[in-house]
Amino acid sequence: MSQLSSKIQDFITDYHWSIPISVQIKFPQLGPILDQVCIPKVPLEDKLVWKHSTSGCLTFTEAFSHKTSIGQNMHGAKIIWSIDIPPSKSMMVWRLMHDKLPTDDKMMERGSKMASMCSNCKSHAESSSHLFLHCSFAFKVWNWFPSILNFPLNFRATCDIWKISDRIWTPQCKIVIIACLVNILNTIWYTRNQARFQNKNIDRKVAINMIISSTAFSGNSTLKTSAVDMTEFRILKALKINIHPPRAPTIKEVLWHPPISNWLKVNTDGAVTKNPFFKQLVVASLGPQKASQEVALLKISPPILFS
Ligand SMILES: [Zn+2]
Repeated sequence: MSQLSSKIQDFITDYHWSIPISVQIKFPQLGPILDQVCIPKVPLEDKLVWKHSTSGCLTFTEAFSHKTSIGQNMHGAKIIWSIDIPPSKSMMVWRLMHDKLPTDDKMMERGSKMASMCSNCKSHAESSSHLFLHCSFAFKVWNWFPSILNFPLNFRATCDIWKISDRIWTPQCKIVIIACLVNILNTIWYTRNQARFQNKNIDRKVAINMIISSTAFSGNSTLKTSAVDMTEFRILKALKINIHPPRAPTIKEVLWHPPISNWLKVNTDGAVTKNPFFKQLVVASLGPQKASQEVALLKISPPILFS
């Protein structure tokens, strides 16, 4: 601004804009813009204004919030973090979600020059979508999971797999399914690393047993409960998980004694007080405050006896 020869006040005369004709011809769009600007009634110094803030001042907070992105709304990003799932396994899935796993395609994107081969099937170049979804080894593992759930799965991208958890599940079954998905992805990554760096090929059955044992650990150690449901019962049993039944409601011990002769015992809980005759009777006998007590002893005339 210090290099500008003119000031704003040079273009204001009697509280109106006074733009030279040469400038108006060169910038024809300037007039409508200036019409929207309120001219102050008192003379003010020119100053830089930060248009993204209401005060016009550029504070550190304003600059930080302007540069910070709003954040990603990623499906499944929250549910993988649970006290029942080991953080190292959630972290691996987190890296996969953010394209941070060093698969061959990502390494080449970062400048590595290498020949790519999927270590699990050895017949295809390795990319994260191939390794975790389309590889013949991953395909076999994913084919096992619908047999547990008893409904088909259809994934187009890795983010689609979390849609399974959107179904209505009881808390224990939901965490088991999320843990199973996390363990499937971890196991595929583990088999890939074993084949690539240890020259050990892990069989599909061994991989599935690893998934079951890891999922059983999460499902059995969780404090979440499950309801009596045959679909969930089959899923939990197939994964070797004990069902955690919901906690029993508080049991209240009630001792009932038969009334003495010529007395009638009246239950004055909600069911009986809905009856206008009994409600009137109870309120008249006990008063409005005591009428809410669970058991009232009322004398009826003529006496009514119950056997
Ligand atoms: Zn493959």
